[in-house]
Amino acid sequence: MITAERKPLEELLGYIAPYSRILLLGCNECVTVCAAGGRKEVGLLASALKMAARKSGKELQIVEHTLERQCDPEYVEEVASMVAQADAVVSMACGCGVQQMAMRYAKPVFPALNTKFMGGSERQGVWDERCAGCGNCLLGVTGGICPIARCAKRLMNGPCGGSANGVCEITPDVPCAWHLIWERLEELGQTEDYLEIIPAKDWKTAQGGGPRKIIREDLAE
Ligand code: SF4
Ligand code: SF4
Repeated sequence: MITAERKPLEELLGYIAPYSRILLLGCNECVTVCAAGGRKEVGLLASALKMAARKSGKELQIVEHTLERQCDPEYVEEVASMVAQADAVVSMACGCGVQQMAMRYAKPVFPALNTKFMGGSERQGVWDERCAGCGNCLLGVTGGICPIARCAKRLMNGPCGGSANGVCEITPDVPCAWHLIWERLEELGQTEDYLEIIPAKDWKTAQGGGPRKIIREDLAE
């Protein structure tokens, strides 16, 4: 899923300072799962914004709403009348949802979250980065552990000289991805995969080739 964290209240108050009627819009998907921008967080942020505004002598009108998905034009269309009544929109979706709203409506749309990475849940309340969307997945030869998202140097063949006792040189909190890959391949009896040199990656399939697009001819209208 896409993970995100809420921006500081002061930053959001700065965005909406010129406006008094705000549509605060959450998303029911990834940002709900990572407790950053779902229905509950919309309610909490609305209260915090109103309280902070009141302290400075301003009365904010905030309409709270949460869409099923904010990155989908079909759902974004649902809030047309709410957007029409608002001076500005504060989106609690990831950056994809914020942009979907900004593309559709001629109103200021502000992000309430900092979108972080594609990750998985490590344990309750902890998410870690797992995939960088490189466009040509290597997990089939790396024991299911990503050397791009999880190695600080994005090495195609590792580990580097900074790996010590299974830990990456960047910080003792981060396991060396290539150490994990070796352990996993050993567990699976697939160490021959480790001995195969992975060629230099063509980063055109990743963001290095500019913004990417998927066109499914069988589905496209
Ligand atoms: S190899 Fe690429 S697609 Fe596969 S998990 Fe890593 S970044 Fe994601
Ligand atoms: S120590 Fe491991 S994870 Fe860290 S940069 Fe080197 S190979 Fe990558």
